Amino acid sequence: MKGNGTQQLAQENERLRQDEKMLRLLCETSSSAFIYYNYLEDRFETMANWDHFFDFSISNMEDLSKLYDRVEEQYEIPLREGLFIEKNGRDRESFEIKLKESRLCIEVEVNVVYDSDGKPTDKIIRFKDVTKLTAQKDELTYMAYYDMLTGLYNRNYFVRLLGEFLRRAEKEGKNVAVMFMDFDDFRRVNDGMGIIAGDELVQLFGQYLVGLMSSNVVISHFSTDIYCIAIYDPCGARSVDTIYRVIRERLKKPFKLTDGQEVTMTVSVGVSEYPEAALGTLELINCAEIVMFKAKSRGKDKIQYFDGAILEEFLQTVTIQNKLKEVVFEQNFTMYFQPQYYAENGKLRGVEALIRWRDNKGDMISPAVFIPIAERNGTIVPIGNWVIEKSVQIYAQWRDKYHYPLVLSLNVSAVQCKKRGFIDCLMRILEKYDVSPGEIEVEVTETILIEDFDYISEQLSVLKQAGVRISLDDFGTGFSSLSYLKGLPIDTLKIDKTFVDTLLTDKNTKIITESIIYMVKRLGYETVAEGVETREQFQYLKELGCDMIQGYYMGRPMPSGGIADILEKLTAKVG
Ligand code: C2E
Ligand code: CA
Ligand code: CA
Repeated sequence: MKGNGTQQLAQENERLRQDEKMLRLLCETSSSAFIYYNYLEDRFETMANWDHFFDFSISNMEDLSKLYDRVEEQYEIPLREGLFIEKNGRDRESFEIKLKESRLCIEVEVNVVYDSDGKPTDKIIRFKDVTKLTAQKDELTYMAYYDMLTGLYNRNYFVRLLGEFLRRAEKEGKNVAVMFMDFDDFRRVNDGMGIIAGDELVQLFGQYLVGLMSSNVVISHFSTDIYCIAIYDPCGARSVDTIYRVIRERLKKPFKLTDGQEVTMTVSVGVSEYPEAALGTLELINCAEIVMFKAKSRGKDKIQYFDGAILEEFLQTVTIQNKLKEVVFEQNFTMYFQPQYYAENGKLRGVEALIRWRDNKGDMISPAVFIPIAERNGTIVPIGNWVIEKSVQIYAQWRDKYHYPLVLSLNVSAVQCKKRGFIDCLMRILEKYDVSPGEIEVEVTETILIEDFDYISEQLSVLKQAGVRISLDDFGTGFSSLSYLKGLPIDTLKIDKTFVDTLLTDKNTKIITESIIYMVKRLGYETVAEGVETREQFQYLKELGCDMIQGYYMGRPMPSGGIADILEKLTAKVG
């Protein structure tokens, strides 16, 4: 018996030792801290990772007040109540507290064990560090309202705040202004200095704008390089004018990037006002955006106030877009050709293919109007392909009939040229009509190069290698400097009509044009002057050494029959 009892005791001891070991292990590995309370013995014990949370220990009821002192004020009462749930007969409760000065967020979980009579016997209070989790939650809330890059409001929240402004304005009979602000030539920064520099600029400017916010002025980072400002009851220091002036003043100074580079920027701003321009939030923003484009087209670095006429113009654009969708190429489009002549001997050098559009009602729509729209909505690709096919087809007919050496110039837009497969498509059409690449000249504008310099100049090189001539259109209207042209795979430069227009009247234009022609020739390119309307202009350009002349003076754009007539006469003379 006795031996049996000793054995049992030994077994019991061993179990206890094992339990204790397990408990110790649990405590050592737990990241939480515990307070254990034994009701019968009125004994407190702190366990596990206690030091992570507190620099004092708890061994009796009094010590608990140390805990109350340590939490931020608003958590004191909930903590006092939460720790004694047995008063309400409950067995489990959890809540969060924040410690003073340490920024620690703690989840407190209280468990009470009752005996069969319903008397509490043990209590375990667990402290768990949830600082990280809470921060993540806060971040999510932050992200719902703010733009991470700049600290300004994000688009969605801005629209909500603007909505609140509008409701208030309706009640109080006030105005609300929206300023839609877009960086000018942001691409130039992104392409020239890299995307990281672009991002940093967006960020720096955004951070500057944060300082302009107040209860009646809310600002948001709308997208990449677009910011939107809503002003409640704009007047005085918060009038659109004043805010614009302040921003513009800031933009006169460069932004300093972390890599030491300095960048200056200008913005274009469109302004619409409730209730004059629109009554709804999105309409108001739309109106401001539309007039912003007007500010751009007026030459950037400008502010444009809402004006019904601009909206109408925009609506016309939309109408054209819709009309473009319904276009049946053969029915609505036709090709015109404008002759180009050698300045020296007046011989016909070639023709430029220019598209014409007559809509279903019979109205003529200028390519200057619809080509930019077609470029924006992508319809330029099928239109461009149609232009190439139609022009080459007509060209082949002239050649077969008249055997006159002509160069066919085709306008190719950036979107079209960038499209993969463009070169293959062009080559296939040339093959189909048995036209050699040497008879073709592709006209591209300078903007095409600025957008994607490397890819486009590579494409142009491939074309040039295949024998196609490359011509740079509208020279002098964009950014290009002569040194930038060096190394570009081009054969011909077309001097823009704006130069020709003032050539004889403006001394500066005269000097610029003279030096352009001189330098371009030295670089080995041919020059074409376009928009030549008078004999005097022709004569003068010829004297300057300009190679080719195109313009109303020599011949307007005409249907293919007109060119056939010219060729008829030319070949008749020869023959
Ligand atoms: P562009 O390539 O600069 O074409 C020259 C424009 O100047 C043509 O206008 C032509 O009719 C006009 N022009 C020529 N000589 C004179 C002149 O002596 N005086 C005046 N006042 N104007 C003259 P158009 O045909 O209205 O074309 C406008 C623009 O539309 C073209 O400018 C070109 O950029 C674009 N475009 C025309 N056809 C096509 C096309 O098939 N594809 C593409 N991508 N663009 C085209
Ligand atoms: Ca052209
Ligand atoms: Ca041109």
